[in-house]
Amino acid sequence: MSAAEKTNLLNLDRQAMHDFFAAHGEKPFRATQVIQWIHQYGVDDFEAMTNLSKELRARLKDIAEIRVPEIAQDQVAADGTRKWLLRLDDGNAIETVFIPEEDRGTLCVSSQVGCTLNCSFCSTGHQGFNRSLSVAEIIVQLLVANRALGRDPKGERIITNVVLMGMGEPLLNFDNVVPAMRLMLDDYGYGLSRRRVTLSTAGVIPMMDRLREECPVSLAVSLHAPNDALRDQLVPLNKKYPIRELLEACRRYCADSPRSRVTFEYVMLDGVNDSVEHAHELVRILRDVPSKVNLIPFNPFPQTLYQRSPKPVIDRFRDVLIAAGLTTITRKTRGDDIDAACGQLAGQVKDRTRRRQRLTARVGQA
Ligand code: SAH
Repeated sequence: MSAAEKTNLLNLDRQAMHDFFAAHGEKPFRATQVIQWIHQYGVDDFEAMTNLSKELRARLKDIAEIRVPEIAQDQVAADGTRKWLLRLDDGNAIETVFIPEEDRGTLCVSSQVGCTLNCSFCSTGHQGFNRSLSVAEIIVQLLVANRALGRDPKGERIITNVVLMGMGEPLLNFDNVVPAMRLMLDDYGYGLSRRRVTLSTAGVIPMMDRLREECPVSLAVSLHAPNDALRDQLVPLNKKYPIRELLEACRRYCADSPRSRVTFEYVMLDGVNDSVEHAHELVRILRDVPSKVNLIPFNPFPQTLYQRSPKPVIDRFRDVLIAAGLTTITRKTRGDDIDAACGQLAGQVKDRTRRRQRLTARVGQA
């Protein structure tokens, strides 16, 4: 069988793996064994899967493969943040970032090569878009990072949390993101609790409802503005799914589990969305939504016209929210010396949209 016809087992969540073994006349429990080998032990060689019979191992080599992409670059920032550039089969490359903190280790995972949303303050948007990632290409980011980081002296995994906050809009790649997240939650996979897997969206409302039904992980929403006029400029998707409907979808998302809250991300752009009036407006619109707010100091990238709000302005904004009873934190900027901070992930995108060309031309004229 040629490589092209072999099934890449990294694409299969538990159910799909069951179906695969059933279709080949094998016992379904092989699915849990193989998932454990691949995702718990990081094994990509069938020969090493010693609880499978010799015959089955030989057969698997014939019909299946576990294709882990090449690490094209591996960088560590001064603060310990680490970024991998993974080379995909078609020449595109994506970025994955590990952020160590005192009480946890978070992996920031990409869901698409580039992004279609074109948010004005985001570097990924400026790279244009090529395609969505497969299940394998999403989950392998966790596999590669786990392999590289190993375990702590107590034998616990270094990566305790995953955020889908890398390149791309995860809800526009729903069909591949959900099986990848199921592997993250699977006890035979990575065994993470739903609280420790967070999907971040710019607000694709119909898919938020599907997520709630099919795989209710923690939800973050990139809000960035307290009114539609401003949000239309920053997050063009707002023209399709405006704030009022977005917040209703957030309320629905939380309705099922009483303790859950949506994290609203708000990038602090100097002189754009950071005034005291904006803060009061934000308090008003979030009044009836179970929420937390993360203020993200803007991270600059080449060709951007925005600047980061000064610290006193961010503090003043935060104090208004806290005084109104909103749980608010200012996110620390991490890994910016290796371009690994929020909004700085660019990878290597073979752009299909010609967006980068148009933007370069525009800046050239200015
Ligand atoms: N498309 C999804 C997932 C990307 S998450 C989403 O929009 O939520 C990336 C997070 O970083 C988002 O909250 C995004 O708005 C924020 N971000 C993007 N560019 C940034 C920048 N230059 N500085 C700081 N944060 C940025």
